Amino acid sequence: MNQLLIHNPATGALITQVAADDGASVAAKAERARAAQPAWQATPLAERKACITRFRTAIVAQLETLAALMTSETGKPITMSRNELNGLLGRIDFFLKEVAAQLQTETVFNEGGMTEQIEHLPLGVVVNISAWNYPWFVGGNVYIAALLTGNAVLYKPSEYAALTGMAMARLLHEAGVPTDIFITVIGDGAVGAALLEQRIDGLFFTGSYATGAKIAQTLGPRMVKLQLELGGKDPTYVTDDADPRVAAESLADGAMYNAGQGCCSVERIYVHERIHDAFVAALVQAVQSFKVGDPMLDDTYLGPLTRAQQIEVLDAQVADARAKGAALLCGGARLHGPGNWYAPTVLSGVNHTMELMREESFGPIVGIQKVSGDAEAVQLMNDTRYGLTAGVFTPDEARAKALLAQIHSGSVYWNCCDRVSPRLPWSGRGDSGIGLTLSTHGIQTFTRHKAWHLRQA
Ligand code: NAD
Repeated sequence: MNQLLIHNPATGALITQVAADDGASVAAKAERARAAQPAWQATPLAERKACITRFRTAIVAQLETLAALMTSETGKPITMSRNELNGLLGRIDFFLKEVAAQLQTETVFNEGGMTEQIEHLPLGVVVNISAWNYPWFVGGNVYIAALLTGNAVLYKPSEYAALTGMAMARLLHEAGVPTDIFITVIGDGAVGAALLEQRIDGLFFTGSYATGAKIAQTLGPRMVKLQLELGGKDPTYVTDDADPRVAAESLADGAMYNAGQGCCSVERIYVHERIHDAFVAALVQAVQSFKVGDPMLDDTYLGPLTRAQQIEVLDAQVADARAKGAALLCGGARLHGPGNWYAPTVLSGVNHTMELMREESFGPIVGIQKVSGDAEAVQLMNDTRYGLTAGVFTPDEARAKALLAQIHSGSVYWNCCDRVSPRLPWSGRGDSGIGLTLSTHGIQTFTRHKAWHLRQA
């Protein structure tokens, strides 16, 4: 049996090893899910909702243990692990409140003996291949809505959040979700690839563009419903009428929260030349005030990177930016000692010839570029292959809306950043992906629509 080794990114120590899947066990799990799904679809919605309600209750009861488990394997500071679990509760509540209306058969025409109806049916067996950076959020966005709508789920947590994924399964099963309806598949990318070979009805992926593109290539000819939530290079523009200190404090948090390992972390900042210097000074001050340390401690803001290999990406981006003339204002190197530590890093004088402003960093690093006005800011914000989120800081609502209307991204922010709401669709444009989760549309996405044309004899 293959083993998956789980390390603590803060210390490099081995936490444990768990049994991993192989091609044969993945196939057996997919068959079990296929056999069990019709009974789950036939289970009254009230019972499916009761399972998810009990799952929610268990999360609340075990929140401290679950937070500590997530922190131990991902390095996420404990307060942020608690925030993620608490944030998940609001998402569960939203799904529980909205799911019935989304499954209701709609009569859209009824005249002269002709009735037309839309029925909402589960897809069947869906696969969820997930990321490690917000495992409860990005997993829950998929499997909670998928289970409520009557699907069986094969859930592959990231190899960097496998213990958390196994805890999710335990809680769901204890809450009454049948063991063949929510099945974890444990392992690395090769195990994820084995999932693609199974007979499945939907593939919901959260992860990098590189992996998403491979999955799309494999599944394209198979006509399986495919949803890809991928990376970003999210920009924010600070206008000349913004308060530089207020904007800097918010954006420092948006760039550095969870060590910058968020798909919607702020990765590029454009600042109007009139307030550029004041903003840069305030941002560096805010970043330097963040406490770096043991992620298990309540007062730690910045923990380690989850994956050691990302340190090389950050080092290369810093070296490339400096070679092309950027000013390194703080950080810029790994912090020595065991574990995957990188100093919070701010660079100014950057431009779009630099990798730092083009490719996802996924770490505690941000570049600041001076702009002459709104037109240049819009042009630069849109100069990206990604399109997940983008923001503007200004007290002028009309100016903000006019700017944001020109931005090609799934979400736009006025005077805020790095924010996700269960009520709003979460989607990307360009290489940030296809499809969406959250909102009522993110419930519908786990259903297929059957059209009924009914004529009275
Ligand atoms: P990743 O692509 O390395 O891995 C994601 C998952 O895919 C893991 O479970 C991995 O085991 C699996 N996988 C790897 N190779 C595979 C293959 N060939 N076939 C099938 N599965 C395979 O990404 P990651 O490092 O886990 O996550 C970080 C990325 O996720 C970042 O780019 C981030 O922006 C993105 N992300 C996006 C969102 C969003 O909502 N758009 C949310 C969170 C993270």
